[in-house]
Amino acid sequence: MPTFDFDLFVIGGGSGGVRAARMAAQTGARVALAEAAELGGTCVNVGCIPKKLYSYAAGYAESFEEAAGYGWKLPEAPQFDWAHLKAQRAKEIARLNGIYASLLKNAGVTLVTGWAQLVDPHTVEVDGKRHTARHLLVATGGTPFVPDIQGREHVVTSDAMFDLDPFPKRLLVVGGGYIACEFASIFNGLGAKVTQLHRRAHLLTGFDDDVRQFLANEMGKAGVDVRLNCDVASVTRGTGGTGGLTVTLARGQQIEADTVLFATGRVPNTQGLGLEAAGVALDERGAIAVDAHYRSSVPSIYAVGDVSTRVQLTPVALAEAMVVVDELFGKGKRRLDYEFIPTAVFTHPNIGTCGYTELDARAKFGEVAVFSSEFKSLRHALSGRSERTFMKLVVDKATDRVVGLHMVGANAGEVVQGFAVAMRAGATKAIFDSTVGIHPTAAEEFVTMREPMPG
Ligand SMILES: Cc1cc2nc3c(=O)[nH]c(=O)nc-3n(C[C@H](O)[C@H](O)[C@H](O)COP(=O)(O)OP(=O)(O)OC[C@H]3O[C@@H](n4cnc5c(N)ncnc54)[C@H](O)[C@@H]3O)c2cc1C
Repeated sequence: MPTFDFDLFVIGGGSGGVRAARMAAQTGARVALAEAAELGGTCVNVGCIPKKLYSYAAGYAESFEEAAGYGWKLPEAPQFDWAHLKAQRAKEIARLNGIYASLLKNAGVTLVTGWAQLVDPHTVEVDGKRHTARHLLVATGGTPFVPDIQGREHVVTSDAMFDLDPFPKRLLVVGGGYIACEFASIFNGLGAKVTQLHRRAHLLTGFDDDVRQFLANEMGKAGVDVRLNCDVASVTRGTGGTGGLTVTLARGQQIEADTVLFATGRVPNTQGLGLEAAGVALDERGAIAVDAHYRSSVPSIYAVGDVSTRVQLTPVALAEAMVVVDELFGKGKRRLDYEFIPTAVFTHPNIGTCGYTELDARAKFGEVAVFSSEFKSLRHALSGRSERTFMKLVVDKATDRVVGLHMVGANAGEVVQGFAVAMRAGATKAIFDSTVGIHPTAAEEFVTMREPMPG
């Protein structure tokens, strides 16, 4: 029996890696984790958390605007201090980095700082030092992808958005995914003049079609200049001393901006990891190919999170990590069920969604009943704003099960998280109908929709 320095060596101290290392160590396993940057990974440092903090900041602009309708007289026009927000965010993120370090330390995980590379199926090298382990877990996440356009060097990715200096008065966002929409919406709220370009006919591929159209409309009403079917040909820096950028579209039109954000997808972090040396196979997306138990083509090497998954969300990375820990050190083999994973988009207004889009539900279940509702929420009766809320249920006619639930509106993420539990439990439309609403809320609409859409 070979001896190893550790039972588990984790590469990457983000959502999946930290969870796996900590939980494995708590079972008594000898665990090490290598991280090349700050602990917490994408989510804590340049993803979910700072993004949500900035989304809260943007939300105040709406609240100030609404306040007058409720009788509040603000003494003077509110001023936004970007430097202050950045400093506050940095302080909070540093606090979270520290919490992650303590969690690992308290669980007894050996933290190795530096870039880790696989040497063979049981060996990892960090800064010239080799460590062996019975099992290796790759949790190196993903990184933004920017297409090879002329002037690529002038654009930024989401990683840079949290620390821009100065605040961009004119922001051009290229992309139509959730990250692009969120930054467009947030910076619009913070006071930038935002143009969002997307090469397809609709934003948010993969979301329900009604949701996609409704959100684009609401973002437009809120001030984002959303332009669809637009391809960027080049980006050039002006010579006029303003440092401005000129974006030229494939159709020839030009747009001026201070900052150009390319939010055009993310790719798995597999470069420079020594995957080839260890014999780890990649799939057609360049992600680490894994089986249903997150085992790669090399039996001792596992991979979880954005480096291998198709559902790139923090809770999914955490859940995958727990499947690996349970198999290697705990309760035994099990599979993660990817159906009915809820998700939110923190645009203004938010999207919350769980289960199938209407289109996918029709393809999977055949006959479906669709219930939808669009209304002005009570908050806007006095706010003076015209924002509307949209809700939709998709029901499998054969079983009466609610298989899709979608919302565009304030706090949609908070609302949909609760309904996701019911959906995973197999709640039928009859159960929704028999549930008493909470009045007056927007969420009660989900339990009071009675008439299906025709067709
Ligand atoms: C702008 C943005 C907003 C997002 N918002 C949300 C959201 O609201 N909700 C949500 O659920 N998800 C969100 N996500 C996605 C979420 O952040 C990821 O799905 C999640 O962080 C994936 O976790 P992970 O463990 O796979 O990788 P990561 O969290 O990316 O961690 C990987 C870690 O590995 C380290 N690393 C890489 N290579 C090496 C190496 N060779 N040696 C040592 N260390 C290495 C990296 O430095 C990094 O710390 C967002 C992502 C972005 C970019």
